[in-house]
Amino acid sequence: MKTISRRKFVKDSIKATAATALVAPLALNAETFESVNAFQFSQIQLPYGYNALEPHIDAMTMEIHYTKHHAAYVKNVNDAITAEKISYESEKDFFANASKLSPKAKNNSGGAWNHNFFWQIMKANGGGAPSGKIGDAINGAFGSFEKFKEEFTKTAIGRFGSGWAWLVNENGKLKIGSTANQDNPMMDSSELKGTPLLGLDVWEHAYYLKYQNKRNEYVANWWNLVNWDEAAKRLV
Ligand code: MN
Repeated sequence: MKTISRRKFVKDSIKATAATALVAPLALNAETFESVNAFQFSQIQLPYGYNALEPHIDAMTMEIHYTKHHAAYVKNVNDAITAEKISYESEKDFFANASKLSPKAKNNSGGAWNHNFFWQIMKANGGGAPSGKIGDAINGAFGSFEKFKEEFTKTAIGRFGSGWAWLVNENGKLKIGSTANQDNPMMDSSELKGTPLLGLDVWEHAYYLKYQNKRNEYVANWWNLVNWDEAAKRLV
């Protein structure tokens, strides 16, 4: 929030200066560029301890996933933002223009956002069938919670190689799909589009220490962690 405010202040100041002095096209010097283009990704604080999701996700996997993999995505996208002078103002703008980004900026911006989302839509003692509006929406779209769970599971297991399985809301319609690598449904380059309600990381780094090649067991156990309140918040 601080960076956004500062950037807005800089912009407003530029506008004010231009308006007052009626100056001709403003040439931004290097220093101003840095200030205007201050958007950086950040890593949220993990909402629970590394061991909180045991036994379904083990503490060592969680620690490495958060402190090494996720931290690296955040660092690498921010390095790309600086090196490539990327000037999008928000994550939303960033993903809406994903097709124009370098592979480094695109892949790491997805990795930064996707994991922040993933940590939030899990909790200890989660799972079960959702109730309320999101429960109704799932029943309406897929017939029943069991059918939804079956299709999402199939999608997660069926993703070839590394990627994610998603439940998204596309203009009021709930859909299940998957993306490769660190792509996400907010990217203009993604075939699957919509606002993510749930996302499941099926990269081997998410489960290999505990489950080795048994992605199906990881996915089956992950259902015990779903934080439906967080998913429901995103269904607007
Ligand atoms: Mn991951």
